[in-house]
Amino acid sequence: MDLDRHDFQLDELVDRIKKNDNQLVALQVPEGLKIQALEMMDSIEGESGARVILAADPCYGACDLVHDKMKMMGVELVAHMGHSQMNIDSGMPTHFIPVTYDGAPELAEVIPILDSHRRIAEERLSSTDKEEFSEEEAKEKFLDAVGRFSPLEDSRLGLVGSIQHLHLLENYKEMLEEQGYDVEIPVGGDRLTLPGQVLGCNYSGDSSKIGHYLFLGSGDFHPIGLVLHTGKPLAMLDPYTGDATEMSFDRIERILRQRFGLIMSVGDSSSFGILIGEKPGQMRRNLALRMKRLLENHGKKGYLLALDHVGPDLIDFYPVDAFVNTACPRIAIDDSTRYSKPLITPYELEVALGEKKWEHGYQFDEIP
Ligand code: SF4
Repeated sequence: MDLDRHDFQLDELVDRIKKNDNQLVALQVPEGLKIQALEMMDSIEGESGARVILAADPCYGACDLVHDKMKMMGVELVAHMGHSQMNIDSGMPTHFIPVTYDGAPELAEVIPILDSHRRIAEERLSSTDKEEFSEEEAKEKFLDAVGRFSPLEDSRLGLVGSIQHLHLLENYKEMLEEQGYDVEIPVGGDRLTLPGQVLGCNYSGDSSKIGHYLFLGSGDFHPIGLVLHTGKPLAMLDPYTGDATEMSFDRIERILRQRFGLIMSVGDSSSFGILIGEKPGQMRRNLALRMKRLLENHGKKGYLLALDHVGPDLIDFYPVDAFVNTACPRIAIDDSTRYSKPLITPYELEVALGEKKWEHGYQFDEIP
């Protein structure tokens, strides 16, 4: 990552610290930017006169705001970098520091991919789906990323990105419209702050008007979630490298086969650990309690386990048959092979217990 091309917007933070006369501030920085954290601390301390404590635990999102422990240390303000505010209250005054990257990749390379995806979207728009399925057909449909999309009303291109590239979207929308695309920058629910924003756990901007996507960002974390959630074709344009690629349906179907296997494997399990995330934006206590009730209704046992971080060495040893995760949804999807016992999402438990039907296709575990 070329750190010199990132703009860390610290001025507003310094102004706020001075205005409030804060003496002790906690700084939270995403993993990829931690290498620059000490330099930032020097800069904030030098310009504001406050003391800065780095919250050095891993931080992967605005769901993970530091809260009561920092309060106990006497911290008056949390400065959270690289993520935007979501619909949670950590109980601490928090200042969000935007980070933007100045790279703007050429569109030319991604156009052939977008053209082929638009054709898929147009074919889908004109196709109609069957209403009734046999059990076998329903399971096939579950595994079929291509065939399990919900009905479309249009074949628009949805333009999304990760947060440090969202400032590019309006400009790219215009350029794509000049190329003949009908472009929408989706606006999501309360967990998302900015138009075109996606999170690994929330793709609520998706609509039946969008037939395919272009993602501006790097890595496959957001693309995997978006295609798992929507079943729609997705092209990726990386502002750091300029590379244009697509999220392959084969890759998504491999993940769906793995989810299918895990669901089948817990059918006879009798005891489950139900994981509750302690991070403010991951805590789904009511969902965890609903899963416990559901298990009890099926004559099974559910143990509620609350954790800040979830990892194999923290849970593998419990004498249960499987785990249901209500913390960050991506732990079950992206990391399940690291665990020695099946780790499934709440929706997957409902399918395993026969409460949800296979034929409705895979339902991504979204935090609203
Ligand atoms: S995907 Fe996980 S880590 Fe990222 S914002 Fe959502 S809950 Fe937090």
